[in-house]
Amino acid sequence: MLDEVATGFGRTGKMFACEHAGVAPDILCLAKGITGGYLPLAATLATEEIFSAFLGEYKEYKTFFHGHTYTGNPLGCAAALANLELFEHEHIVEQMQPQIAYLQKRLNEEFVSLAHVSDVRQWGFMVGIELVEDQASRKNYPPEKRIGHRVILEARKRSVMIRPLGDIIILMPPLTITDKELAMLLDVVYDCIRNVTDG
Ligand SMILES: *Cc1c(COP(=O)(O)O)cnc(C)c1O
Repeated sequence: MLDEVATGFGRTGKMFACEHAGVAPDILCLAKGITGGYLPLAATLATEEIFSAFLGEYKEYKTFFHGHTYTGNPLGCAAALANLELFEHEHIVEQMQPQIAYLQKRLNEEFVSLAHVSDVRQWGFMVGIELVEDQASRKNYPPEKRIGHRVILEARKRSVMIRPLGDIIILMPPLTITDKELAMLLDVVYDCIRNVTDG
């Protein structure tokens, strides 16, 4: 069983992250990007073998009696179908590849060498930039300094809304981001990390 709620629909540079690993799960959980984030919708996919195990006459009691109040919500499903169509017709995953390479290049060439960055992790359009007080010993900042929070507040002043997970700065740009916006995002985040951690 794989949870691709966060990683599905192009986020990691392939339609699903399990493609990187070359595995095909029996059960796959999807949500978030399934509608491009416009409406809430989740889906659980199963192989034909699992699906058919619940088929039979009523009296056999094989039915998987399971449902939510808003299961199959028509608006959510319409948004998801429109989103899937965009993936297909606009070759979104293919289109992302040069931007992923650009993102990787800038992270490796600029962010990795910042004095207070201990690690930069990237998989497609999912990025974590880890900040530490001392790079050599990987000593964390004292939590009361709220370094991650201060970096994102600084970015907000420059019209970039991001969020930290503790002292890890998270970048999850929309798949529709333009080249210019991506460059601006990286410029701002770079400056903010440098200003806050040097101060
Ligand atoms: C967001 C998230 C969930 C929770 O999804 P909901 O639709 O909000 O319940 C589960 N797993 C992962 C990996 C997530 O990122």
